This record gives sequence, structure tokens and C-alpha cells, in this order.
Amino acid sequence: MNVIAICAHPDDIEFNCAGTLLKHVAHGDNVVMVSVSDGATTNHNGEVIRSKVNAVSEAERAASIVGAKLYILDYKALDIPCNHKIISELESLINRYDIDTVYTHWHSHTNQDHRRVSRSVLAAARCVKRVFMWEEGIPHSLCLSGFNPQMYVDITEYLDKKTDAIRAHESQIEKYTGDIVDAIIARGRYRGYQMRTKYAECFEISKFTEVGFPEKRE
Ligand SMILES: [Zn+2]
Repeated sequence: MNVIAICAHPDDIEFNCAGTLLKHVAHGDNVVMVSVSDGATTNHNGEVIRSKVNAVSEAERAASIVGAKLYILDYKALDIPCNHKIISELESLINRYDIDTVYTHWHSHTNQDHRRVSRSVLAAARCVKRVFMWEEGIPHSLCLSGFNPQMYVDITEYLDKKTDAIRAHESQIEKYTGDIVDAIIARGRYRGYQMRTKYAECFEISKFTEVGFPEKRE
């Protein structure tokens, strides 16, 4: 399988679906990670919250832990558009890697960048067989409607490496404290319990085609 995960900011993929990507890699699938922005942000006084250098080097380290190829596009964090240009760029990456499985943001998250990237990806991936939206997490998780998990992936074997990929984003761990790692692990345990395993990630399904039908009877 050829898999792509597309997010708004470096760290979104690692927080929400790195376990699933690690499982794809372990099964011999090709995995591409795309962050639409380099994650550089400042506050309203112009003070740097996250520098480009930090965010990019952390993203590179995390992608190498996952075993994925990494692309960082040139859109500005906090002001990512949803327009023809970005949809075309994402579509050309999907075509270049002959992608059959896409993971991205959930469509109704409170974060405006996450919502716009989700909508751009759903448009860019309209011809892809499988499109999934991950469970948005912590700390921006107050939403007007509820996430409705429909597909669960057992990530028990990959939890330690997922945690390593998250911790590669040192500037974010410093910002949110180590509590964010504990919270993500706890969420994984909760989702794991729901599918009767130890740890899981879950997704809403935008599209799922080519279900494995049993052999046709003659
Ligand atoms: Zn984000």
C-alpha cells in the first residue's frame, strides 16, 4: 500500500496517527508525511512561539523514527487557506506516490488550519480508495460536534515508538509539558479498551472502498 498522512503543522500527525503509520511501515507499506506549514508561529506581540528551524528539525527527526518520507510545504501556520492552489499541490503529491490510503485532520476541529487542511485533503483525495480522518487531540479539542470513531487500529506494538516520535517535538513538549504525552497515551488506552486490546488509534471514515470480499463461489 502507498500511504500519505497530511497535516497542518509539524507534530499533528505524530500526536494523532503515528502508531498507525508505524504499523503501515512494519507491514512494508510506503508512507509519506506532509505538513502543509513549517509550523513557525509568533504571538500577537511578534514574539516567536515556535521557530521554523526548531519545527523543521523536530519534524525530520520524528519522520525518521516513523520511517516515512517527509514533505513540508510553504503555507503560513495559523493562516492556511483552502483553495485551488493547495488542493492541486496535495493532489500532485497523491498522484506522484500512487497513493491508495490517506490520513488527515478531522473536518470539524476547532483549529482553523486543521479544518481547512481537512477540507483541502478531502477534495485532493477524491479519487483515492481509502480516506480516514484521525481523532483530534489535546489540547485543542473543544468542538461544536462530536468525533464519531468508526475505524480502530491496534497500535499496542508501536506505542513506544509513537511516544518517541512525539517526544522528538521537544519545543512542543516544552510548551505543553510532558502531560500531553501522558494524555495521548491515556487516550490510546481508552480507545484500546473499546476494541479489546491495549492501545489503539481511531478514525472517522470519509471513504472506504475495495472491502475484502470472500472468494466468489462458482
Ligand atoms: Zn496543528
